[in-house]
Amino acid sequence: MYDNFGISKDIEKLAIETEEEIKEMLKIIENRCTVNSLKVLCAFQNNNISDMHFGSTTGYGYNDIGRDTIEKVFAEVLKAEDSLVRTQFISGTHAITVCLFACLRPGDTMLSICGKPYDTLDSVIGIDENPSSLKSYNIKYEQIDLVNNDFDIPKIVDRVKKGNIKLIEIQRSRGYALRESLTIDKIEKVIKTIKEVNKEVIIMVDNCYGEFVDEKEPIELGADIMVGSLIKNLGGGLAPNGAYIAGRADLVNLASERLTSPGQGKEVGPTLGINKNILQGLYFAPSVVASSLKTAIFTSKILEKLGYKVQPKWDERRADIVQTIEFGNEDDLIKYCQGIQAGSAIDSNSVPMPWDMPGYNDKVIMAAGAFTMGSSIELSCDAPIRPPYIAFQQGALTYEYGKLGVLRAIQNMLYKGKK
Ligand SMILES: *Cc1c(COP(=O)(O)O)cnc(C)c1O
Repeated sequence: MYDNFGISKDIEKLAIETEEEIKEMLKIIENRCTVNSLKVLCAFQNNNISDMHFGSTTGYGYNDIGRDTIEKVFAEVLKAEDSLVRTQFISGTHAITVCLFACLRPGDTMLSICGKPYDTLDSVIGIDENPSSLKSYNIKYEQIDLVNNDFDIPKIVDRVKKGNIKLIEIQRSRGYALRESLTIDKIEKVIKTIKEVNKEVIIMVDNCYGEFVDEKEPIELGADIMVGSLIKNLGGGLAPNGAYIAGRADLVNLASERLTSPGQGKEVGPTLGINKNILQGLYFAPSVVASSLKTAIFTSKILEKLGYKVQPKWDERRADIVQTIEFGNEDDLIKYCQGIQAGSAIDSNSVPMPWDMPGYNDKVIMAAGAFTMGSSIELSCDAPIRPPYIAFQQGALTYEYGKLGVLRAIQNMLYKGKK
């Protein structure tokens, strides 16, 4: 069977061996999936989800009962007072932008406590000069770097005590940075400490790639507001686009008035036929996130056995769905990414090549054979072409497809496509 897919006997053997060794860890992920599924199921039942919520609105989108109820369901799952779940958010970056512009006013200062935030926020904040940035509205930015992959608590406490910090941003996932992702224990501790110093500071968490990875979400840890993309974890592979903001009702309201307009807020926003996809996506999300995690664990173990440096290690507690692999040379990195593409169901005949991309200083290779363009809850792998040649892999809608994709990639790398 594997032979038909171009996977040789020795790699098949290695896969079976690997799976045996990670068995216990896969079981832990399955148990966590049950906990998260239960949250979703209860939220559906408590909100009496029925066929009528699959309806749609056009135009202004007044009285969209599906949309309003979806926002109640998301709020309940995330333990938030309210949420905004909209197709009008064109990306996670857009939702983060709306959230920041909603919470901050001229003269305010935002502080990032995990070093530099996700790359696309450079223009939003004004780290890269932009005439529409927060900086252009006289909103100031400061950052405190992580130390040994954890928050620099003394420095954070000092800065908050000095005053005039309106909002603190925490990014749970590593993004494309070479740091570890932040586990919920670390996030909980830092939030508690900040709130003891000043409970007025708004804590915002960029939760992209983090949802359902663990058993708690940022609001439960004390955050005021959180943001994520629907073509990542919570969309379950079925949401066609969109993002969400969830948290304190007053802040969600401010965000809604920034997304639409002051005075209209959450009352408008047509759903254009996507309500059922959003609900069904959320329904699948715990299991899809579990598949991504199992694929990441499998990848981590098998590539470690083959002698590559990986992060996180297979048995480490995870904070997001991202797996990094250090290839040490350009050729292996490119062959691996091309193999991920070749192992996909969509665009398997395309061969991704390193390319110049806006916002990056090095060439970048991106492999993704996805049903939804740009979706990274589906198996995907990207890498900047620079030493030490690290790839960022994430996703897989099912563990089985994820595993097959990874085996194809390994085959492509070790045998250059030949057997
Ligand atoms: C994906 C991601 C974002 C937002 O990215 P979009 O591509 O704009 O949806 C922001 N922060 C992190 C950590 C992410 O992983």
